[in-house]
Amino acid sequence: MVNPAGNSEPVQGSAVPAESGEPGTRSARPSGWRRLGLPVLTLSTRVAVTAGFFVLLSVAGLSFLLIRAQREQVLAEVIHGSESIAQAILLSIDRDMRLNQRDGLRELVAAMGTHAGIASIRIYNKDGRISFSSRPEEEGERVDTRAEACVQCHSGTTPPAVELAPARRSRIYRSPDGERRLGTIYVIANRDGCQDGGCHGPPSEQRLLGVLDVGMSREPAQARPAAASRSAILISLAATLLIAAALFLIVRRSVQRPINRMVSATRRIAAGGPSLHVPEGAVPEIGILAASFNELIEGFSSSNQKLEDWASSLEEKVSVKATELRTARSQVIQAEKLASVGVVAAGIAHELNSPLMAIITFTHLVRGTVPPDSRAFEDLRMIEREANRCAAIIRQLLDFSRQQQQEPEKHASRISSSLDKALDLLKVEVRNSEVAVQVAIPENLPRVNVNDGQLMQVFVNLFLNAVQAMPHGGELRVTADLAARRDLPPLELPAEVRKLVRITVRDTGTGIKRPDLTRVFDPFFTTKPPGKGSGLGLSVSMGIIQGFGGTILVDSDGMSWTQFTVLIPALEEPAPQPV
Ligand code: ADP
Repeated sequence: MVNPAGNSEPVQGSAVPAESGEPGTRSARPSGWRRLGLPVLTLSTRVAVTAGFFVLLSVAGLSFLLIRAQREQVLAEVIHGSESIAQAILLSIDRDMRLNQRDGLRELVAAMGTHAGIASIRIYNKDGRISFSSRPEEEGERVDTRAEACVQCHSGTTPPAVELAPARRSRIYRSPDGERRLGTIYVIANRDGCQDGGCHGPPSEQRLLGVLDVGMSREPAQARPAAASRSAILISLAATLLIAAALFLIVRRSVQRPINRMVSATRRIAAGGPSLHVPEGAVPEIGILAASFNELIEGFSSSNQKLEDWASSLEEKVSVKATELRTARSQVIQAEKLASVGVVAAGIAHELNSPLMAIITFTHLVRGTVPPDSRAFEDLRMIEREANRCAAIIRQLLDFSRQQQQEPEKHASRISSSLDKALDLLKVEVRNSEVAVQVAIPENLPRVNVNDGQLMQVFVNLFLNAVQAMPHGGELRVTADLAARRDLPPLELPAEVRKLVRITVRDTGTGIKRPDLTRVFDPFFTTKPPGKGSGLGLSVSMGIIQGFGGTILVDSDGMSWTQFTVLIPALEEPAPQPV
């Protein structure tokens, strides 16, 4: 048993089950590119991908509609063609049917079945049996009138209709070898003259004689829409790529590039680099953004610059003030020490002075009463000499005490005169101790604001200490020059002091041990035996030089040399007058 479609499964009208939705299961989905689970892309890529997607969608939709319309048109053409063929077949077999020439009819059906595009030709009798077929082996077989292709006419209750609308006569089916075909049936009605062959009665007795079924191959007709589909897909892809690429380039050039420039300018400024001007570009909105960005960056740079300037000047001011404070503090400490020492010294000196004067006076008087060559005379002279030495120490103490209380008069002076006087005063000591003195003082040294007597006192102290440190002879070297503050170690002096007259006093004596280096300027610090040193020389000298706005530095290797460096601020020299 075969069905009119040629196989047992009808292919048209198969319903696609609708996708079932799940009401209530739709959750609030996060929005945004990233929440879609898509990788983070640049703006230009996003625009290109999004636009490409929608262009592809639109072109694909349009192509689908066009291809469907084309398919329908092609189908209509095929149906029309099959009708023409069927008409031609009916006309051709009409004579053989009238004369009941079955062999001629069979040959004709077989010959027409080989025609290009015709897949099969069948003629059924009114009982549904195949009377003639382009495939002769089918002849005599009966078709199932309940098959989908037959129910158009064989609904069961009503008699089969003789005239059918063209749309109801056609069906699409798949042949056993898998080919898609269009089948069209034609009712062969009993007309006047048909009974001439003697096979059946007049039309009044029998309306239908049979059915012509022409099967047309659909493959050639389908080739056209398929080719059109391929072209449409290729055009869609090309259009999508072109539009996406164009958008990518435009967005990248007009939007992304200026934004990238702004980002790198911001990063550069954040890293402390110089500010960068961002070009305003071709797109007006981006241009406005770039202009306001540039304004912002310029404003930021200038306020940053102001802040930096302010910070650095503040730093400088703080360091100057800190130095001044340190200087003032150490001066106060030193002054306090000296002041208290001065008060004590003045009291002691005053108390000792009267009895000492009495001792000296009475010793002198008693010495006049004893013979000059007697032992008593010599003893009295020694008492008188030692008492005088004590008196000298007391005078020194009184001087020291007075120095703490009154400000000496200062004036612009050259150091050479004080130096010469000091050396002159110590001539005898220098000669006795076999010390070689070398002095190198340039003539053109700037003046300093000092008290000459006090400066001489400082030099005397330094020279005397040096000579005493070289009991077996040695070398005392005195040099002077003008030094720039920046070439010296950090000094606790006011910041405005930039140039100083530097006097170095260097000897090849016993040196000063490292722990003592910080103590030699303390009042009463001495390493000399009792009666040889008071420990006041260097502290008085430091007080004097600090009074001139300078300081004294000391350095020694602790065994073979000592160097004192006296630093006094140099006065600005007036420019030489033209002669
Ligand atoms: P005095 O000379 O009365 O001891 P100073 O204040 O002048 O008091 O000196 C303090 C100490 O510094 C000295 O006792 C000595 O130890 C040390 N001193 C000073 N100058 C020198 C020097 N040129 N060489 C070695 N030691 C020195």
